[in-house]
Amino acid sequence: MSWTSELTVDDDAIRSNAAYFAAATGGRLMAVLKADAFGHGAIANSVLAAGATSIGVTSIDEALALRTAGVRAPILSWLNPVDADFAAAVGADVDLAVQSARLLHAVGRAAAQRGTRARVHLHIDVGMARDGAPAAEWSALCGVARELEALGSVRVVGVMGHMSCADRPDHPQNRRERLVFTNALRATRRRGLSPSIAHLAATAATVTGVGSGFGLHRIGAGLFGIDPSGTSDRLRPALSLTTTVVGSREVAAGTGIGYGLEHVADRRTKLALLPVGYGDGLPRAASERAEVLVRGRRRPVVGRFSMDMLVVDTGDDLLAPGETVTVFGPGDQGEPTVAEWAGWSGTIEHEIVTRIGSRVARIHRTTAATATAATATAAPANEEAARA
Ligand SMILES: *Cc1c(COP(=O)(O)O)cnc(C)c1O
Repeated sequence: MSWTSELTVDDDAIRSNAAYFAAATGGRLMAVLKADAFGHGAIANSVLAAGATSIGVTSIDEALALRTAGVRAPILSWLNPVDADFAAAVGADVDLAVQSARLLHAVGRAAAQRGTRARVHLHIDVGMARDGAPAAEWSALCGVARELEALGSVRVVGVMGHMSCADRPDHPQNRRERLVFTNALRATRRRGLSPSIAHLAATAATVTGVGSGFGLHRIGAGLFGIDPSGTSDRLRPALSLTTTVVGSREVAAGTGIGYGLEHVADRRTKLALLPVGYGDGLPRAASERAEVLVRGRRRPVVGRFSMDMLVVDTGDDLLAPGETVTVFGPGDQGEPTVAEWAGWSGTIEHEIVTRIGSRVARIHRTTAATATAATATAAPANEEAARA
């Protein structure tokens, strides 16, 4: 089995980012590893070793997968439908965030059946009308929580909120959302609950400080070198995507390239074919804008992106099959960055890193002399796809 494209995950960069946030938050770091750690794969042990004290994920399935992988640290799952497997979550010692009385009852029932208490974080919508209980329902939600605490099926250990505009520290919404959050915390205590931990800030709110001052920080993007506020120069990107030249050719001026022949060579030139495309997560919207690094030089991707291939105009260089091309990386060698790819396709870095597909091998690298490891991980189904 050989992979034509490789996504290299620089575990040292992630460790360094995690250590930065652990220090910046006084050790109050929850590492957010949803969506396969933003596409970075198995890095839970690295971030825990670097100072994270707990892990946050979206679904119970994600939490259980971490437990199966041997993670013992506290894990919080914050988004589940009412028929989710709360019993499995409680059985695996996974904390649950809830945003409605219905969900809270479902969690309580599951815990009662197991003869134990569920550890619950009540989730308030501080202002983006997405997840979390609307402020108008908060008091009633606290009332239900108090009842279930009395019955012995839940224990409210935390209160969480999530900010909408923290990447713009001057936005007036930030003050409003902090106020909604502190009011909700106060109401929680008035209702007889005593959560030991409150958490409002994610990466942007931590970097800019607009969500600081509470017990825990939920950091996702920042661990992977992404700062939505664009204000920190302390974070290192961790991903590099390389691929392998399949073939090359010389074409005459006037040659149309790719579907629709939208790109026409303006001179005699050489083209290289790369076995990676939008089916592997590279955004088609970057067609006619994207560049890659070839033999130390930036070269343009030409024509529309295909599902499985890209064509690169390599100028005077006729590439040999098997040569390595860098699609993106941290930028140290002049290669395009994930941020540039996001710019070329009108999206954010998060979307680029979470979409790299299963035909691409994930390789974890660390330069630590004692722990040199390069392990490819792939599901069996992915191997099938790669052979196809
Ligand atoms: C994704 C997510 C986070 C992490 O946000 P980043 O900006 O990636 O740090 C924190 N909290 C919630 C509720 C999230 O959905």
